[in-house]
Amino acid sequence: MTEVTIATHPARWPFQDLDIASLRAAGYRSVPFRQFILKVHSRCNLACSYCYVYEMADQAWRHLPRRMSDDVAAKAVERIVEHVAGHSLSSVEIILHGGEPLLADAGWLTGLVDSLRARVPAQVNVAVQTNGTLLTRPMLDALTAEPWGDERLGLVGRVTGVEQIGIRAMLATGVVPVIAPTASGLNVNADNAAAAVASALRASELIFLSDVPGLLGPQGDVIRRLSASAVTQMVAAGHVHGGMIPKLDAGLSAIAGGVWRVWIGAETMVTA
Ligand code: SF4
Repeated sequence: MTEVTIATHPARWPFQDLDIASLRAAGYRSVPFRQFILKVHSRCNLACSYCYVYEMADQAWRHLPRRMSDDVAAKAVERIVEHVAGHSLSSVEIILHGGEPLLADAGWLTGLVDSLRARVPAQVNVAVQTNGTLLTRPMLDALTAEPWGDERLGLVGRVTGVEQIGIRAMLATGVVPVIAPTASGLNVNADNAAAAVASALRASELIFLSDVPGLLGPQGDVIRRLSASAVTQMVAAGHVHGGMIPKLDAGLSAIAGGVWRVWIGAETMVTA
């Protein structure tokens, strides 16, 4: 029998001479994983002639579940959480892999990513390894509805566009649309969503109904009228607190988007 050795490696396969203790004593430190490849779907929507997975002798993929089960996905999230916490990592890379990962359904994929971002105590950067054929507009919209870190609001969704056709059709028939502002399982701040809708529809006025009578001045009295620049100054000077700040931010963004006037107050200010 001939023993084959690799001249450049000091240990014989399978590294029987590997001495972890002396390596550590010499200063070697292992580096914790920071990149996780999640095989979320075992099939592909193509059949490339050169594919080493689907076109070669090993056909074991035929016996694998098509999509990662919810149970396995939940356990993968928990294991990554455990690893990140145990090694105090500041960021990790998650790569959604296949087969073709986009076969797994946009809602399911965004649910998995939302779960990772909600649970993993580090920045979670996500990439998708895809053949690109399923990157439709709805899929792109779903995948780019990223959680938005805002220290006042927590982890929320962000408005990236307003589909006006349905809203305008309802308004044209006298129906008042009620819009639930959610994005990929995340809540979107309702004031931001209302400001975006008002701007997109070129509304002349936007009314924020609240549980407070309006913006209060230093003596606790309701300020009846304020210009946009004065609002900006009040916020910058620290004269506004709590949930009123994002509400004013949303109002300012509506005005910047073309709305003429923004009202903030309790429902008692609305008269028939
Ligand atoms: S796109 Fe990639 S995974 Fe799919 S069949 Fe072709 S080579 Fe295989």
